[in-house]
Amino acid sequence: MRESSSAYASRIRRFRLPRVCIAVVGGDAATMLERAESLVRDNPFLELRLDYLSQPLAALPKIKNFLELHPEATFIATCRRAVNGGKFKGSVAAELAVLRKAADAGFPLADIELQSAEALKADEMKDLYDRVGVIISYHDFRATKKLDDQLTNMSKYPADFYKLVSTAANLHDNVVMMKFLEANYGKREMVGLCMGEQGIISRVLGVRAGSIFTFAAATRGEETAPGQVPAGELRDIYRIDMVDQATQVYGVVGDPVAHSFSPVMMNAAFRRETVNAVYLALHAKSLKDLLACVQEIPIRGLSVTMPYKQDILEALENSDPLTKQIGACNTIVRGAGGQLYGFNTDVAGIVVPLEQRTSLAGARVLIVGAGGAARAGAFGLKARGAEVFITNRTPERAQALARLAKAKYLKRADVAKQPFDVIVNATPVGMGGGKQSPLDEKELNAKYLFDLVYNPAETALMRMARAKELQVISGLEMFVQQGARQFEIWTGKPAPLAEMAYVVAKALERQAAEKVSEEPEMTVRKAAKSSQPKKTVRKAAKKAVKTGRRK
Ligand code: NAP
Repeated sequence: MRESSSAYASRIRRFRLPRVCIAVVGGDAATMLERAESLVRDNPFLELRLDYLSQPLAALPKIKNFLELHPEATFIATCRRAVNGGKFKGSVAAELAVLRKAADAGFPLADIELQSAEALKADEMKDLYDRVGVIISYHDFRATKKLDDQLTNMSKYPADFYKLVSTAANLHDNVVMMKFLEANYGKREMVGLCMGEQGIISRVLGVRAGSIFTFAAATRGEETAPGQVPAGELRDIYRIDMVDQATQVYGVVGDPVAHSFSPVMMNAAFRRETVNAVYLALHAKSLKDLLACVQEIPIRGLSVTMPYKQDILEALENSDPLTKQIGACNTIVRGAGGQLYGFNTDVAGIVVPLEQRTSLAGARVLIVGAGGAARAGAFGLKARGAEVFITNRTPERAQALARLAKAKYLKRADVAKQPFDVIVNATPVGMGGGKQSPLDEKELNAKYLFDLVYNPAETALMRMARAKELQVISGLEMFVQQGARQFEIWTGKPAPLAEMAYVVAKALERQAAEKVSEEPEMTVRKAAKSSQPKKTVRKAAKKAVKTGRRK
Protein backbone atom coordinates (compact mmCIF):
# COMPACT_ATOMS: atom_id res chain seq x y z
CA MET A 1 0.00 0.00 0.00
CA ARG A 2 2.75 2.37 0.90
CA GLU A 3 5.73 1.02 -1.04
CA SER A 4 7.67 4.22 -1.09
CA SER A 5 7.25 4.67 2.65
CA SER A 6 9.16 1.52 3.61
CA ALA A 7 12.44 3.34 3.02
CA TYR A 8 11.31 6.07 5.38
CA ALA A 9 10.03 3.59 7.91
CA SER A 10 13.43 1.93 8.13
CA ARG A 11 15.14 5.35 8.42
CA ILE A 12 12.93 6.64 11.16
CA ARG A 13 12.50 3.52 13.21
CA ARG A 14 12.25 4.66 16.79
CA PHE A 15 15.36 2.92 18.09
CA ARG A 16 17.46 4.65 15.43
CA LEU A 17 16.36 8.12 16.40
CA PRO A 18 18.36 10.04 18.99
CA ARG A 19 16.31 11.22 21.96
CA VAL A 20 16.91 14.91 21.36
CA CYS A 21 15.91 16.84 18.27
CA ILE A 22 17.23 20.41 18.07
CA ALA A 23 15.09 23.05 16.42
CA VAL A 24 17.27 25.17 14.11
CA VAL A 25 16.22 28.62 12.93
CA GLY A 26 17.67 31.25 10.61
CA GLY A 27 16.37 34.03 8.38
CA ASP A 28 18.14 32.67 5.28
CA ALA A 29 19.54 29.33 4.14
CA ALA A 30 23.17 30.26 4.75
CA THR A 31 22.51 31.29 8.38
CA MET A 32 20.34 28.24 9.09
CA LEU A 33 22.79 25.81 7.53
CA GLU A 34 25.77 27.35 9.27
CA ARG A 35 23.94 26.80 12.56
CA ALA A 36 22.92 23.26 11.54
CA GLU A 37 26.52 22.44 10.57
CA SER A 38 27.73 23.50 14.01
CA LEU A 39 25.17 21.29 15.75
CA VAL A 40 24.85 18.16 13.63
CA ARG A 41 27.98 16.39 14.84
CA ASP A 42 27.02 16.44 18.51
CA ASN A 43 23.32 16.02 17.85
CA PRO A 44 22.54 14.24 14.54
CA PHE A 45 18.81 14.95 14.75
CA LEU A 46 17.70 18.43 13.69
CA GLU A 47 14.44 20.12 12.90
CA LEU A 48 14.97 22.80 10.25
CA ARG A 49 12.33 25.45 10.79
CA LEU A 50 11.69 26.38 7.17
CA ASP A 51 8.98 28.78 8.35
CA TYR A 52 11.69 31.08 9.75
CA LEU A 53 13.23 31.48 6.27
CA SER A 54 12.14 34.52 4.27
CA GLN A 55 11.90 32.30 1.15
CA PRO A 56 11.63 28.62 2.07
CA LEU A 57 11.16 27.26 -1.46
CA ALA A 58 14.13 29.18 -2.83
CA ALA A 59 16.30 27.91 0.04
CA LEU A 60 15.64 24.22 -0.58
CA PRO A 61 18.33 23.55 -3.24
CA LYS A 62 21.04 24.73 -0.80
CA ILE A 63 19.46 22.68 1.99
CA LYS A 64 19.40 19.64 -0.32
CA ASN A 65 23.20 19.88 -0.72
CA PHE A 66 23.56 20.07 3.03
CA LEU A 67 21.38 17.00 3.61
CA GLU A 68 23.44 15.05 1.08
CA LEU A 69 26.58 15.90 3.01
CA HIS A 70 25.03 14.49 6.20
CA PRO A 71 23.50 11.11 5.42
CA GLU A 72 24.19 10.02 9.02
CA ALA A 73 21.78 12.60 10.44
CA THR A 74 17.98 12.79 10.55
CA PHE A 75 16.22 16.01 9.61
CA ILE A 76 12.66 17.20 10.11
CA ALA A 77 11.22 19.82 7.74
CA THR A 78 8.75 22.13 9.48
CA CYS A 79 6.96 25.05 7.86
CA ARG A 80 4.45 25.90 10.57
CA ARG A 81 1.92 28.55 9.68
CA ALA A 82 1.69 31.75 11.72
CA VAL A 83 -1.91 30.97 12.70
CA ASN A 84 -0.64 27.78 14.34
CA GLY A 85 2.21 29.39 16.24
CA GLY A 86 4.87 29.31 13.48
CA LYS A 87 6.27 32.04 11.22
CA PHE A 88 5.02 30.99 7.76
CA LYS A 89 2.60 33.56 6.34
CA GLY A 90 1.47 31.46 3.33
CA SER A 91 -1.64 29.33 2.86
CA VAL A 92 -2.02 25.65 3.72
CA ALA A 93 -1.49 24.85 0.02
CA ALA A 94 1.77 26.82 0.10
CA GLU A 95 2.86 24.97 3.25
CA LEU A 96 2.16 21.67 1.53
CA ALA A 97 4.16 22.78 -1.51
CA VAL A 98 7.16 23.55 0.73
CA LEU A 99 6.91 20.20 2.53
CA ARG A 100 6.64 18.28 -0.77
CA LYS A 101 9.72 20.03 -2.11
CA ALA A 102 11.45 19.37 1.20
CA ALA A 103 10.68 15.66 0.76
CA ASP A 104 12.13 15.79 -2.74
CA ALA A 105 15.21 17.52 -1.32
CA GLY A 106 15.85 14.51 0.91
CA PHE A 107 14.21 15.31 4.26
CA PRO A 108 13.20 11.96 5.81
CA LEU A 109 10.57 13.61 8.04
CA ALA A 110 8.09 16.45 7.64
CA ASP A 111 6.05 17.99 10.44
CA ILE A 112 2.55 19.14 9.59
CA GLU A 113 0.13 20.73 12.01
CA LEU A 114 -3.20 18.99 12.63
CA GLN A 115 -5.01 22.15 11.49
CA SER A 116 -3.20 21.98 8.13
CA ALA A 117 -3.92 18.26 7.76
CA GLU A 118 -7.60 19.01 8.42
CA ALA A 119 -7.62 21.65 5.69
CA LEU A 120 -6.07 19.38 3.06
CA LYS A 121 -7.82 16.81 0.90
CA ALA A 122 -7.33 13.16 1.86
CA ASP A 123 -5.32 12.41 -1.29
CA GLU A 124 -3.04 15.41 -0.64
CA MET A 125 -2.19 14.06 2.83
CA LYS A 126 -1.71 10.58 1.39
CA ASP A 127 0.60 11.98 -1.28
CA LEU A 128 2.70 13.66 1.42
CA TYR A 129 2.75 10.45 3.46
CA ASP A 130 3.96 8.53 0.41
CA ARG A 131 6.81 10.98 -0.15
CA VAL A 132 8.14 11.39 3.37
CA GLY A 133 7.83 10.28 6.99
CA VAL A 134 5.06 12.39 8.50
CA ILE A 135 4.74 13.89 11.96
CA ILE A 136 1.28 15.24 12.64
CA SER A 137 1.57 17.75 15.40
CA TYR A 138 -0.76 19.66 17.64
CA HIS A 139 0.26 22.53 19.89
CA ASP A 140 -1.83 23.91 22.73
CA PHE A 141 -0.25 27.18 23.81
CA ARG A 142 -2.58 27.59 26.80
CA ALA A 143 -3.17 24.35 28.68
CA THR A 144 -2.82 20.57 28.97
CA LYS A 145 -6.27 19.21 28.39
CA LYS A 146 -8.28 16.88 26.17
CA LEU A 147 -5.13 15.08 25.00
CA ASP A 148 -7.11 11.94 24.11
CA ASP A 149 -9.56 13.96 22.00
CA GLN A 150 -6.71 15.59 20.10
CA LEU A 151 -5.08 12.23 19.48
CA THR A 152 -8.37 10.87 18.16
CA ASN A 153 -8.53 13.82 15.74
CA MET A 154 -4.93 13.32 14.68
CA SER A 155 -5.35 9.58 14.19
CA LYS A 156 -7.70 10.22 11.27
CA TYR A 157 -4.64 11.11 9.22
CA PRO A 158 -1.81 8.80 8.18
CA ALA A 159 1.40 9.57 10.03
CA ASP A 160 4.56 7.96 11.36
CA PHE A 161 4.52 10.02 14.56
CA TYR A 162 1.82 11.85 16.45
CA LYS A 163 3.20 14.83 18.31
CA LEU A 164 1.19 16.46 21.06
CA VAL A 165 2.64 19.53 22.70
CA SER A 166 0.66 21.24 25.44
CA THR A 167 1.41 23.97 27.96
CA ALA A 168 2.00 23.15 31.61
CA ALA A 169 0.02 25.59 33.75
CA ASN A 170 1.22 23.71 36.82
CA LEU A 171 3.49 20.80 37.76
CA HIS A 172 0.65 18.31 37.71
CA ASP A 173 0.14 18.92 33.97
CA ASN A 174 3.39 17.03 33.47
CA VAL A 175 1.80 14.06 35.21
CA VAL A 176 -1.18 14.33 32.86
CA MET A 177 1.11 14.33 29.82
CA MET A 178 3.19 11.40 31.07
CA LYS A 179 0.14 9.29 31.92
CA PHE A 180 -1.18 10.02 28.44
CA LEU A 181 2.11 8.90 26.87
CA GLU A 182 2.17 5.74 29.00
CA ALA A 183 -1.42 4.90 28.06
CA ASN A 184 -0.56 5.10 24.35
CA TYR A 185 2.76 3.33 24.62
CA GLY A 186 2.99 0.55 22.04
CA LYS A 187 -0.19 1.67 20.30
CA ARG A 188 1.16 4.69 18.45
CA GLU A 189 4.50 6.31 17.88
CA MET A 190 4.09 9.34 20.10
CA VAL A 191 6.04 12.46 20.83
CA GLY A 192 4.69 14.39 23.81
CA LEU A 193 5.84 17.17 26.06
CA CYS A 194 4.62 20.23 27.93
CA MET A 195 5.83 23.71 27.04
CA GLY A 196 6.36 26.45 29.59
CA GLU A 197 8.72 26.87 32.52
CA GLN A 198 6.74 24.32 34.51
CA GLY A 199 7.01 21.73 31.75
CA ILE A 200 10.64 20.75 32.25
CA ILE A 201 9.68 17.46 33.96
CA SER A 202 8.01 16.29 30.77
CA ARG A 203 10.94 17.35 28.61
CA VAL A 204 13.32 15.17 30.63
CA LEU A 205 11.07 12.32 31.78
CA GLY A 206 8.69 12.22 28.78
CA VAL A 207 11.10 9.91 26.93
CA ARG A 208 10.77 7.25 29.59
CA ALA A 209 6.98 7.58 29.60
CA GLY A 210 6.91 6.75 25.90
CA SER A 211 7.79 9.89 23.93
CA ILE A 212 10.05 8.64 21.13
CA PHE A 213 12.07 11.81 21.27
CA THR A 214 11.88 15.35 22.60
CA PHE A 215 12.74 18.82 21.36
CA ALA A 216 15.49 21.13 22.54
CA ALA A 217 16.88 24.55 21.73
CA ALA A 218 20.34 24.90 20.19
CA THR A 219 21.36 27.25 23.02
CA ARG A 220 19.76 29.59 25.52
CA GLY A 221 18.24 32.41 23.50
CA GLU A 222 17.52 30.19 20.48
CA GLU A 223 14.31 28.67 21.86
CA THR A 224 11.52 28.06 19.36
CA ALA A 225 8.97 27.22 22.05
CA PRO A 226 8.42 28.43 25.64
CA GLY A 227 10.38 26.43 28.21
CA GLN A 228 12.64 24.71 25.68
CA VAL A 229 15.86 23.55 27.31
CA PRO A 230 19.19 23.80 25.45
CA ALA A 231 20.18 20.42 24.00
CA GLY A 232 23.56 20.53 25.75
CA GLU A 233 21.77 20.81 29.11
CA LEU A 234 19.43 17.92 28.31
CA ARG A 235 22.37 15.73 27.32
CA ASP A 236 25.10 16.81 29.73
CA ILE A 237 23.27 18.01 32.84
CA TYR A 238 20.11 15.88 32.79
CA ARG A 239 21.78 12.94 30.95
CA ILE A 240 18.61 12.33 28.99
CA ASP A 241 20.19 9.44 27.08
CA MET A 242 20.54 7.52 30.35
CA VAL A 243 17.06 8.19 31.73
CA ASP A 244 15.19 4.89 32.07
CA GLN A 245 12.55 3.25 34.24
CA ALA A 246 15.04 2.75 37.07
CA THR A 247 16.15 6.40 37.15
CA GLN A 248 15.35 7.99 40.51
CA VAL A 249 13.86 11.46 40.33
CA TYR A 250 14.96 14.31 42.60
CA GLY A 251 14.41 18.02 42.31
CA VAL A 252 14.52 21.49 43.73
CA VAL A 253 11.16 23.08 44.37
CA GLY A 254 10.51 26.78 44.68
CA ASP A 255 8.76 29.77 43.18
CA PRO A 256 10.68 31.04 41.30
CA VAL A 257 13.29 28.35 40.72
CA ALA A 258 14.63 28.87 37.19
CA HIS A 259 17.68 30.72 38.54
CA SER A 260 18.73 27.80 40.75
CA PHE A 261 22.15 26.23 40.31
CA SER A 262 21.06 23.12 42.21
CA PRO A 263 20.32 21.08 39.03
CA VAL A 264 23.83 21.75 37.71
CA MET A 265 25.40 20.79 41.03
CA MET A 266 23.31 17.78 41.99
CA ASN A 267 23.21 16.20 38.54
CA ALA A 268 27.01 16.50 38.41
CA ALA A 269 27.20 14.76 41.79
CA PHE A 270 24.95 11.91 40.60
CA ARG A 271 27.02 11.53 37.44
CA ARG A 272 30.33 11.55 39.31
CA GLU A 273 29.11 8.89 41.77
CA THR A 274 27.34 6.89 39.00
CA VAL A 275 23.96 7.12 40.70
CA ASN A 276 21.10 6.46 38.27
CA ALA A 277 19.19 9.61 39.18
CA VAL A 278 18.10 12.86 37.65
CA TYR A 279 17.54 16.16 39.45
CA LEU A 280 15.04 18.68 38.05
CA ALA A 281 13.96 22.26 38.71
CA LEU A 282 10.31 22.15 39.81
CA HIS A 283 8.54 25.48 39.60
CA ALA A 284 5.59 24.97 41.95
CA LYS A 285 3.09 27.80 42.22
CA SER A 286 1.42 26.07 45.18
CA LEU A 287 2.25 23.42 47.73
CA LYS A 288 -0.85 21.45 46.74
CA ASP A 289 0.41 21.22 43.16
CA LEU A 290 3.84 20.10 44.34
CA LEU A 291 2.48 17.41 46.66
CA ALA A 292 0.22 15.93 43.96
CA CYS A 293 3.20 15.79 41.63
CA VAL A 294 5.59 14.29 44.21
CA GLN A 295 3.29 11.33 44.77
CA GLU A 296 2.57 10.58 41.14
CA ILE A 297 5.99 10.99 39.48
CA PRO A 298 7.18 9.60 42.12
CA ILE A 299 9.95 11.87 43.35
CA ARG A 300 12.49 10.33 45.78
CA GLY A 301 13.85 13.51 47.28
CA LEU A 302 13.49 17.27 47.17
CA SER A 303 15.52 20.33 47.93
CA VAL A 304 13.09 22.97 49.16
CA THR A 305 13.70 26.64 48.57
CA MET A 306 11.75 29.89 48.88
CA PRO A 307 8.87 30.25 49.64
CA TYR A 308 8.11 26.71 50.86
CA LYS A 309 10.71 25.97 53.55
CA GLN A 310 8.26 26.55 56.39
CA ASP A 311 4.92 25.66 54.78
CA ILE A 312 6.20 22.25 53.72
CA LEU A 313 6.45 21.17 57.38
CA GLU A 314 2.73 20.47 57.62
CA ALA A 315 3.00 17.93 54.79
CA LEU A 316 5.76 15.94 56.51
CA GLU A 317 5.27 12.62 58.22
CA ASN A 318 8.25 13.36 60.45
CA SER A 319 11.45 15.35 60.61
CA ASP A 320 14.66 15.35 62.62
CA PRO A 321 14.62 17.24 65.96
CA LEU A 322 16.71 20.17 64.70
CA THR A 323 14.40 20.70 61.72
CA LYS A 324 11.41 20.73 64.08
CA GLN A 325 13.15 23.22 66.33
CA ILE A 326 14.13 25.47 63.44
CA GLY A 327 10.68 25.25 61.92
CA ALA A 328 12.08 25.20 58.38
CA CYS A 329 12.97 22.31 56.11
CA ASN A 330 15.14 22.39 52.98
CA THR A 331 15.47 18.65 52.35
CA ILE A 332 12.86 15.97 51.86
CA VAL A 333 13.12 12.22 51.51
CA ARG A 334 10.10 10.35 50.20
CA GLY A 335 9.60 6.95 51.80
CA ALA A 336 8.49 3.87 49.85
CA GLY A 337 4.90 4.39 51.06
CA GLY A 338 4.89 8.02 49.91
CA GLN A 339 5.51 9.52 53.37
CA LEU A 340 7.69 12.61 53.41
CA TYR A 341 10.53 13.08 55.91
CA GLY A 342 12.21 16.44 56.45
CA PHE A 343 15.75 17.56 57.23
CA ASN A 344 17.52 20.89 57.38
CA THR A 345 20.92 20.89 55.70
CA ASP A 346 21.14 24.71 55.67
CA VAL A 347 22.47 24.30 59.23
CA ALA A 348 25.48 22.33 57.98
CA GLY A 349 25.82 24.83 55.13
CA ILE A 350 26.34 27.65 57.65
CA VAL A 351 28.08 25.86 60.51
CA VAL A 352 30.61 23.73 58.60
CA PRO A 353 32.40 26.55 56.70
CA LEU A 354 32.67 28.55 59.96
CA GLU A 355 33.84 25.62 62.07
CA GLN A 356 36.55 24.92 59.53
CA ARG A 357 37.98 28.36 60.27
CA THR A 358 37.24 29.15 63.89
CA SER A 359 35.89 27.71 67.09
CA LEU A 360 32.24 28.56 67.51
CA ALA A 361 32.02 27.92 71.23
CA GLY A 362 31.65 31.34 72.83
CA ALA A 363 32.04 33.17 69.48
CA ARG A 364 29.96 36.34 69.06
CA VAL A 365 27.97 35.93 65.85
CA LEU A 366 25.65 38.54 64.32
CA ILE A 367 22.99 37.29 61.93
CA VAL A 368 21.40 39.87 59.65
CA GLY A 369 17.94 38.66 58.65
CA ALA A 370 15.23 36.59 60.31
CA GLY A 371 13.96 34.34 57.51
CA GLY A 372 14.59 30.66 56.80
CA ALA A 373 18.38 30.84 56.42
CA ALA A 374 18.68 33.04 59.52
CA ARG A 375 16.65 30.51 61.52
CA ALA A 376 18.94 27.66 60.43
CA GLY A 377 21.95 29.78 61.35
CA ALA A 378 20.57 30.87 64.74
CA PHE A 379 19.68 27.36 65.93
CA GLY A 380 22.74 25.72 64.37
CA LEU A 381 25.18 28.25 65.82
CA LYS A 382 23.53 28.21 69.26
CA ALA A 383 23.83 24.40 69.24
CA ARG A 384 27.61 24.87 68.71
CA GLY A 385 27.83 27.19 71.72
CA ALA A 386 27.99 30.54 69.91
CA GLU A 387 26.56 33.74 71.36
CA VAL A 388 24.10 34.72 68.65
CA PHE A 389 22.75 38.23 67.93
CA ILE A 390 19.98 38.90 65.42
CA THR A 391 19.07 42.10 63.63
CA ASN A 392 16.50 42.46 60.88
CA ARG A 393 14.65 44.96 58.71
CA THR A 394 11.42 43.99 60.51
CA PRO A 395 12.45 44.11 64.20
CA GLU A 396 9.50 41.99 65.39
CA ARG A 397 10.67 39.02 63.33
CA ALA A 398 14.20 39.30 64.73
CA GLN A 399 12.79 39.54 68.27
CA ALA A 400 10.61 36.48 67.75
CA LEU A 401 13.49 34.44 66.33
CA ALA A 402 15.82 35.58 69.11
CA ARG A 403 13.29 34.40 71.69
CA LEU A 404 12.85 31.02 69.99
CA ALA A 405 16.54 30.33 69.44
CA LYS A 406 17.64 31.76 72.80
CA ALA A 407 19.66 34.37 70.93
CA LYS A 408 19.80 38.15 71.49
CA TYR A 409 17.91 40.75 69.52
CA LEU A 410 20.00 43.70 68.41
CA LYS A 411 18.58 47.00 67.18
CA ARG A 412 20.07 48.01 63.87
CA ALA A 413 21.22 51.27 65.48
CA ASP A 414 23.31 49.27 67.95
CA VAL A 415 25.10 47.07 65.40
CA ALA A 416 27.94 49.53 64.79
CA LYS A 417 28.61 49.78 68.52
CA GLN A 418 29.41 46.08 69.00
CA PRO A 419 32.37 43.88 68.06
CA PHE A 420 31.68 40.39 66.63
CA ASP A 421 33.73 37.39 65.64
CA VAL A 422 31.43 36.61 62.72
CA ILE A 423 28.77 38.50 60.77
CA VAL A 424 26.40 36.40 58.66
CA ASN A 425 24.27 38.04 55.94
CA ALA A 426 21.07 36.00 55.77
CA THR A 427 19.14 38.50 53.62
CA PRO A 428 18.90 38.43 49.83
CA VAL A 429 20.43 41.92 49.59
CA GLY A 430 23.25 41.68 47.05
CA MET A 431 21.64 38.93 44.98
CA GLY A 432 21.86 39.55 41.26
CA GLY A 433 24.68 42.09 41.63
CA GLY A 434 24.37 45.80 42.25
CA LYS A 435 25.76 48.10 44.88
CA GLN A 436 23.28 47.40 47.66
CA SER A 437 24.54 46.11 50.95
CA PRO A 438 22.56 45.03 54.02
CA LEU A 439 25.14 46.71 56.31
CA ASP A 440 27.22 49.87 56.17
CA GLU A 441 30.98 49.86 56.31
CA LYS A 442 31.04 51.15 59.90
CA GLU A 443 28.91 48.17 60.97
CA LEU A 444 31.46 45.59 59.84
CA ASN A 445 33.19 45.10 63.17
CA ALA A 446 34.14 41.44 62.90
CA LYS A 447 36.88 39.01 61.97
CA TYR A 448 34.77 37.03 59.49
CA LEU A 449 32.01 38.02 57.10
CA PHE A 450 29.91 35.13 55.78
CA ASP A 451 27.62 36.31 52.97
CA LEU A 452 25.07 33.56 52.30
CA VAL A 453 24.33 35.09 48.88
CA TYR A 454 26.23 33.03 46.30
CA ASN A 455 25.12 34.66 43.08
CA PRO A 456 27.03 36.80 42.25
CA ALA A 457 30.17 35.26 43.70
CA GLU A 458 31.30 38.70 44.91
CA THR A 459 28.71 41.02 46.45
CA ALA A 460 29.08 44.68 47.40
CA LEU A 461 29.06 43.57 51.05
CA MET A 462 31.92 41.15 50.43
CA ARG A 463 33.94 43.84 48.65
CA MET A 464 33.38 46.23 51.53
CA ALA A 465 34.41 43.57 54.06
CA ARG A 466 37.58 42.68 52.14
CA ALA A 467 38.52 46.35 51.99
CA LYS A 468 38.19 46.42 55.79
CA GLU A 469 40.39 43.29 55.95
CA LEU A 470 37.72 40.95 57.24
CA GLN A 471 38.10 37.32 56.20
CA VAL A 472 35.30 36.69 53.74
CA ILE A 473 33.37 33.46 53.25
CA SER A 474 31.27 33.16 50.11
CA GLY A 475 27.72 31.80 49.93
CA LEU A 476 29.09 29.28 47.44
CA GLU A 477 30.54 27.36 50.39
CA MET A 478 27.14 27.18 52.04
CA PHE A 479 25.55 26.15 48.77
CA VAL A 480 27.97 23.29 48.24
CA GLN A 481 27.87 22.12 51.87
CA GLN A 482 24.07 22.06 52.13
CA GLY A 483 23.88 20.24 48.79
CA ALA A 484 26.53 17.76 49.87
CA ARG A 485 24.52 16.85 52.98
CA GLN A 486 21.43 16.37 50.81
CA PHE A 487 23.33 14.07 48.49
CA GLU A 488 24.51 12.04 51.48
CA ILE A 489 21.02 11.81 52.99
CA TRP A 490 19.56 10.64 49.67
CA THR A 491 22.25 8.22 48.53
CA GLY A 492 24.17 7.21 51.67
CA LYS A 493 27.39 7.97 49.74
CA PRO A 494 29.96 10.67 50.50
CA ALA A 495 29.32 13.68 48.27
CA PRO A 496 31.85 14.57 45.55
CA LEU A 497 32.48 18.05 46.98
CA ALA A 498 35.20 19.05 44.56
CA GLU A 499 33.08 18.25 41.51
CA MET A 500 30.07 20.04 43.01
CA ALA A 501 32.02 23.21 43.78
CA TYR A 502 33.68 23.14 40.37
CA VAL A 503 30.49 22.90 38.32
CA VAL A 504 28.73 25.65 40.28
CA ALA A 505 31.75 27.92 39.99
CA LYS A 506 31.87 27.25 36.24
CA ALA A 507 28.15 27.97 35.90
CA LEU A 508 28.54 31.26 37.80
CA GLU A 509 31.47 32.15 35.61
CA ARG A 510 29.45 31.43 32.46
CA GLN A 511 26.58 33.52 33.75
CA ALA A 512 28.88 36.45 34.54
CA ALA A 513 30.39 36.21 31.03
CA GLU A 514 26.92 36.12 29.45
CA LYS A 515 25.96 39.20 31.42
CA VAL A 516 28.97 41.02 30.01
CA SER A 517 28.17 39.98 26.43
CA GLU A 518 24.57 41.10 26.90
CA GLU A 519 25.77 44.64 27.51
CA PRO A 520 27.12 45.74 24.12
CA GLU A 521 27.48 49.35 25.12
CA MET A 522 30.01 48.38 27.76
CA THR A 523 33.46 49.71 27.08
CA VAL A 524 36.38 47.31 26.95
CA ARG A 525 37.64 48.75 30.21
CA LYS A 526 34.33 48.24 31.93
CA ALA A 527 34.08 44.73 30.51
CA ALA A 528 37.54 43.89 31.78
CA LYS A 529 36.52 45.19 35.18
CA SER A 530 33.36 43.10 35.23
CA SER A 531 35.34 39.97 34.37
CA GLN A 532 36.68 40.32 37.91
CA PRO A 533 33.98 38.00 39.21
CA LYS A 534 35.69 35.23 37.22
CA LYS A 535 38.72 35.41 39.50
CA THR A 536 36.49 35.67 42.54
CA VAL A 537 34.39 32.72 41.44
CA ARG A 538 37.48 30.58 40.94
CA LYS A 539 38.83 31.61 44.33
CA ALA A 540 35.52 30.84 46.00
CA ALA A 541 35.31 27.44 44.28
CA LYS A 542 38.85 26.56 45.31
CA LYS A 543 38.01 27.52 48.86
CA ALA A 544 34.80 25.52 48.82
CA VAL A 545 36.69 22.48 47.55
CA LYS A 546 39.51 22.94 50.03
CA THR A 547 37.24 23.32 53.01
CA GLY A 548 35.19 20.38 51.76
CA ARG A 549 38.31 18.21 51.59
CA ARG A 550 39.42 19.23 55.02
CA LYS A 551 36.26 17.67 56.40
P1 NAP B 1 13.62 34.65 53.59
O1 NAP B 1 13.06 33.58 54.43
O2 NAP B 1 12.77 35.30 52.57
O3 NAP B 1 14.19 35.79 54.53
C1 NAP B 1 14.76 36.95 54.02
C2 NAP B 1 15.23 37.84 55.15
O4 NAP B 1 15.93 38.92 54.55
C3 NAP B 1 14.11 38.42 55.98
O5 NAP B 1 14.55 38.55 57.30
C4 NAP B 1 13.91 39.80 55.35
O6 NAP B 1 13.49 40.79 56.25
C5 NAP B 1 15.30 40.14 54.92
N1 NAP B 1 15.29 41.05 53.79
C6 NAP B 1 14.72 40.82 52.58
N2 NAP B 1 14.92 41.87 51.77
C7 NAP B 1 15.60 42.80 52.51
C8 NAP B 1 16.09 44.09 52.23
N3 NAP B 1 15.91 44.66 51.03
N4 NAP B 1 16.77 44.74 53.20
C9 NAP B 1 16.96 44.18 54.39
N5 NAP B 1 16.51 42.96 54.71
C10 NAP B 1 15.85 42.26 53.78
O7 NAP B 1 14.91 34.12 52.80
P2 NAP B 1 15.96 32.99 53.27
O8 NAP B 1 15.51 31.67 52.80
O9 NAP B 1 16.26 33.17 54.70
O10 NAP B 1 17.21 33.36 52.38
C11 NAP B 1 17.89 34.57 52.59
C12 NAP B 1 19.07 34.63 51.65
O11 NAP B 1 20.04 33.67 52.05
C13 NAP B 1 18.71 34.22 50.21
O12 NAP B 1 18.30 35.28 49.47
C14 NAP B 1 19.98 33.65 49.70
O13 NAP B 1 20.73 34.66 49.10
C15 NAP B 1 20.70 33.16 50.93
N6 NAP B 1 20.71 31.69 50.97
C16 NAP B 1 21.81 31.10 50.50
C17 NAP B 1 21.91 29.74 50.53
C18 NAP B 1 23.18 29.11 50.01
O14 NAP B 1 23.18 27.91 49.83
N7 NAP B 1 24.23 29.86 49.82
C19 NAP B 1 20.88 28.97 51.05
C20 NAP B 1 19.74 29.60 51.54
C21 NAP B 1 19.67 30.98 51.50
P3 NAP B 1 11.94 40.99 56.68
O15 NAP B 1 11.72 40.05 57.80
O16 NAP B 1 11.88 42.40 57.05
O17 NAP B 1 11.12 40.66 55.46
